[in-house]
Amino acid sequence: MTTAVYPGSFDPISHGHINLAKRGLKIFDKLIVAVARNVAKQTLFTADERVEMVREVLSDDSRITVDAFEGMTVDYVRSCGANVMLRGIRTVSDFEYEFQMALINRHFTTDIETMFMMTSNEYSFLSSRFIKEAVALGADVSAFVPELVQRRLREKLGGEGR
Ligand code: ADP
Repeated sequence: MTTAVYPGSFDPISHGHINLAKRGLKIFDKLIVAVARNVAKQTLFTADERVEMVREVLSDDSRITVDAFEGMTVDYVRSCGANVMLRGIRTVSDFEYEFQMALINRHFTTDIETMFMMTSNEYSFLSSRFIKEAVALGADVSAFVPELVQRRLREKLGGEGR
């Protein structure tokens, strides 16, 4: 039974994240979606709000568990008894960031591997940051996030959608 941890800030979860998680489950038996509490960037949603949305969106699949963590991701992965973390790559800039992160993590631990999956074509341009900006400008982002996430975004940022 292989379990992978899929860590991220998920601020908020998008169809890009969902797609990656579902494809990850073609490789791994179980996936722990791990929401980082302490992220360097300012988040729109609190960690509890981000966890709640991920749960509402993904918990219909019994192979997925959703959790929040603090501190070093590798320490969290180890505490789960897992030795793989899953990350997505969309762009060359993602690659540079992820490459550096994976090597830094390897400095701290050699027993945990990072596995990368390429984004699906239709979500290659999708980022939580872009989605938040679009909602703040009044755009309809229902193609990019589940309905309940769009509702929460509008509660935070306003906008009726167009
Ligand atoms: P972080 O804030 O940790 O960089 P995010 O919460 O934005 O990460 O995303 C978590 C993971 O999901 C990252 O590995 C990111 O590359 C991946 N991801 C985000 N959006 C997409 C997408 N549209 N397609 C594929 N992977 C994605």
